[in-house]
Amino acid sequence: MPFTLRGDDVCQITQPSPIPNPYWVAFSASAAELINLETGREGLPMEASWLQVLAGNQLDVGQITFSDPIATAYSGHQFGVWAGQLGDGRAILLGDINELELQLKGAGRTQYSRMGDGRAVLRSSIREFLCSEAMHALGIPTSRALAVVGSKQAVRRETMETAAVCSRIAPSFIRIGHFEHFASLQNIIRLKELANLLISEFYPECSSSKDPYLNLFKEISTRNAKLVAQWQSVGFCHGVLNSDNISALGLTIDYGPFGFLNHFEIDHICNHSDQGGRYAYHRQPQVMHWNMACLASAMLPLLELEYSPEESQTLLRSALEDFSVIYAREWQQIFRRKLGLQSQQDGDVALIERLLQAMHDSQVDFTSFFRGLGDLKKDSMPTEIMQRNDFNDRPNIEKWFADYLVRLQSETISDGARKALMNQINPKYILRNHLAQDAIEKAQQDDFSEIQKLQQILSQPFDEQEDFDHYSKPPPIDMQRVSVSCSS
Ligand code: AMP
Ligand code: MG
Repeated sequence: MPFTLRGDDVCQITQPSPIPNPYWVAFSASAAELINLETGREGLPMEASWLQVLAGNQLDVGQITFSDPIATAYSGHQFGVWAGQLGDGRAILLGDINELELQLKGAGRTQYSRMGDGRAVLRSSIREFLCSEAMHALGIPTSRALAVVGSKQAVRRETMETAAVCSRIAPSFIRIGHFEHFASLQNIIRLKELANLLISEFYPECSSSKDPYLNLFKEISTRNAKLVAQWQSVGFCHGVLNSDNISALGLTIDYGPFGFLNHFEIDHICNHSDQGGRYAYHRQPQVMHWNMACLASAMLPLLELEYSPEESQTLLRSALEDFSVIYAREWQQIFRRKLGLQSQQDGDVALIERLLQAMHDSQVDFTSFFRGLGDLKKDSMPTEIMQRNDFNDRPNIEKWFADYLVRLQSETISDGARKALMNQINPKYILRNHLAQDAIEKAQQDDFSEIQKLQQILSQPFDEQEDFDHYSKPPPIDMQRVSVSCSS
């Protein structure tokens, strides 16, 4: 969707800063299709000048000219604290194709760069690329990644690294932070324009309702509640759930120090700058709820156009309460499916929670365990099952499996049919940190083959792909805790 708001308080026309001698690091032909970008046999664009465009070195390609690239202004709460104005400090929105926005991340300084250099490093660009495409394949709403273009231009982080530009695609990159920005400026006209833009393009059902802005809030909140339930179900930790990194469309955006769980650790922290664990795995739902409270307070002035301040607060507060209900419902539905339960029965939630607790206590690999669970036969013996799994407290897990088998026996579905369904929700392959790290280290030596291999494997995360079985395994012990820096 074109970002149609204009004015110095909203955005600045910003030209990308060129990088020297760009080269392809990664390219997603399936993301390219979204914007009708034709690819050749190598899986790269037929039109060679796309390389220069996606490097930020040129603004026209074929019939297309990106005449007005912009950086947008937003504000937000970082780690729970109001951070004031932020904005696209290194992302430049080139324009839109097919109603999708094409954005270059790491394309140089903008009006909103503050102390930053406007660049992104190769390492973090590869991670964003691989994860965006992997999340899409998992069926989780996300911005897409079109390409990573590298350059030998030096960039200083903790050490010297090299620059890269990650091009991303989404229907819109509008964030909660955009609402907070206009609310903090007490600019109700802008708030209204922003809300109207979202309603007309993405939430048309709200426009015909009596309370379009209240309903817009409810819809954004619902999408994000469902999103976080999906994250929990694949063990995805975002790492930096600041309000400026939360999409107004309920997409996963701004991949930074994210991580997928290996062994199940309920309070796992993937971002090593997050010392207090604000964004730990088990806190993600409540933090998303907190972000929705930020959105609610930013939208309050819009409700006050219709209602008294007290009524407006009451309406938004009640809508905000729905978040937890929607999240819990979605989480339960997904985890029932992960366990292969077709019907809904009392005691299911307790059964799921007992399992997760046992997995946490024994540090059982999250993805492999759920994937393997589909192999279970209804008439197995709990003691047999035990031999395949690494639980410490044997009597406890044997009791759990005994209860689970009884529960499965109350369903009519056959073992084979249940397994097929479970394999559609329990992926075999996820982007484990050590896999991404290996691809990055090779790419830093100009070998991009591992990126392509991961791209291919992770594009079909629910398929067996026997030849790549080893990619489904947890990391060796010494690579269990690849630490991910927030600097990117
Ligand atoms: P993030 O945590 O990556 O979402 O970034 C938070 C804010 O810092 C956003 O406004 C970014 O645009 C900005 N930022 C991050 N890295 C840089 C950089 N290298 N140069 C300029 N701005 C940056
Ligand atoms: Mg961000």
